[in-house]
Amino acid sequence: MTKERDFDVIAVGAGFAGLGLIHYLREAGLSIQVFDKASDIGGTWTWNRYPGAATDSEGYYYCLSFSKELLQEWTWSERYPGWEETHRYMRFVADKFDMWPHIQLNTEVSGAEFEKDKGLWRVKTAGGSEYTCRYFISAVGMISEPNIPEIKGLGSFSGPCFHAARWPQEGLDYAGKRVGIVGAGATAVQMLPVMAKTAESVILFQRTPNFVLPAVQKPMTDEWEKEIKDNYDEILAKCRHHVFGMAFDSPVGRTVEDTPPAEVQKIFEEHWPRGSFRFCFETFDDLLTNADSNKAAADFIASKIRQKVNDPDTADLLTPKGYPLFAKRPPLDHGYFEAFNRDNVHLVDIDEREPLQEITEQGIRTTENDYEFDIIVLATGFKAYTGAVEKLDIHDSHGVSLKDKWQNESASIMGVCIADFPNFFMITGPQAPFANLPTSIEQNIMWITDCIVKMEKEGFEVCTPTKEAEEAWSDHTAEIHAQTLMAEGHKVNSWMMGANIPDKKPRVLIYFGGADVYYDRLRESADGGFPELKFSRIAG
Ligand code: NAP
Repeated sequence: MTKERDFDVIAVGAGFAGLGLIHYLREAGLSIQVFDKASDIGGTWTWNRYPGAATDSEGYYYCLSFSKELLQEWTWSERYPGWEETHRYMRFVADKFDMWPHIQLNTEVSGAEFEKDKGLWRVKTAGGSEYTCRYFISAVGMISEPNIPEIKGLGSFSGPCFHAARWPQEGLDYAGKRVGIVGAGATAVQMLPVMAKTAESVILFQRTPNFVLPAVQKPMTDEWEKEIKDNYDEILAKCRHHVFGMAFDSPVGRTVEDTPPAEVQKIFEEHWPRGSFRFCFETFDDLLTNADSNKAAADFIASKIRQKVNDPDTADLLTPKGYPLFAKRPPLDHGYFEAFNRDNVHLVDIDEREPLQEITEQGIRTTENDYEFDIIVLATGFKAYTGAVEKLDIHDSHGVSLKDKWQNESASIMGVCIADFPNFFMITGPQAPFANLPTSIEQNIMWITDCIVKMEKEGFEVCTPTKEAEEAWSDHTAEIHAQTLMAEGHKVNSWMMGANIPDKKPRVLIYFGGADVYYDRLRESADGGFPELKFSRIAG
């Protein structure tokens, strides 16, 4: 700790990013304090305690990579670990590396102000405390701020009614209860089949169906674990060089366009049972950019939905129409479609047949029916990328709030910093790639750590990201985005374009030029002395 400031670095969020920051910055000799409003560490994995919550990346590379010893020591029990296991892993990391002294829980950061004359951030907490630091880092998570829809009557329900990411921390007994779920995204897809097993009934209120891909869960065996641990360097290198940060072989070197149709079907069929996003990334290289190729994959998925769901009308309602695969982020299926074959599970189409009108004291009213429930879960998504960062209530060097700056577009420099916000960094902010998150998180942390080390070594007190660099990155991101089918996300309220938030217009939120290319860009930037930033000293 220095005399002039409480900490070198204050970071907000004790999830993967917060833990990674503690490791890398402490190694670099800096003092760091992480605040989190939750009562435990874990970020996503402490908030999302809903039944069935599990990783969608395969667990053995959804982890921090900075310690070979850690990689060898920790054993995952399944291909996709549930939230409890991932949470336990994170506590294990915090224990093993003695991170707890750097973490202050139950502490919500309510605002922060950059004091130009001192080159320091003054960070305020909701409890009324203030702390100063040289560098302020948002590690709040890109999908963390719940989107609570404006449904009439919200608040009037007599039983528990909450957003899935605010599942009661102490747990909730839903056995024998009538459950209503609003939403049909990745959260609902994970939750429904698990709840259906013991609930009296589960009714899912769906507006837009999703392209749900098979997860194919499997237990970790001794042989598989050995294979992973013997080859960890190679697995992590694959993540580093993959377009979505996953340990997949890519590019596969073939396209739907150049493959005979019968062969295309054969390849889809072969890859379907392999599970995870492998269906998209290990089949063909043109699924995200060529509309016809994408349609071939979409049709194949639709045929699988029809095979899995017994009732043809329900199958039809569960089949996406009129938008390409990947315009919305595809969820992974752990028995979702099969759950609709149970007598106690029902689908209500609130898009056309019976729009949702209001939440009542007893349940949910649509234009056609009154449904009574004991529990209502809002699986209605998140204010992804922007919501949680904006809540930090920060202003740029001209006094403009981040919320105002991001009203029409959410520009940044590589998702790690924002023009005119001095000494402020983000982990996976807007216009970073959407990829296997721990991989991106560590790459961001390395860039930030290198930048801070440079400043400390060279005696700079302030770094100011430039407008030119922001415009260049933002334009580049938009240009690539427009070449992909993700650009159609605005038609289907995709959070990947912020199109699910009523008070914001759709925007380019994600860099789709390839996580591997992006990681190279970060490296080039650091090796080139951070040309996106202006470094200065405080006068006097
Ligand atoms: P989401 O994909 O944004 O889905 C939200 C759902 O709520 C949609 O079906 C949406 O319908 C519906 N909805 C929103 N407002 C509504 C309203 N006013 N009335 C009726 N329905 C409404 O959210 P999510 O399922 O929480 O997933 C978000 C992202 O979090 C995922 O895509 C994924 O990246 C991440 N996630 C990851 C995991 C994992 O990796 N294990 C698990 C869960 C979530 P429309 O589609 O019609 O707008």
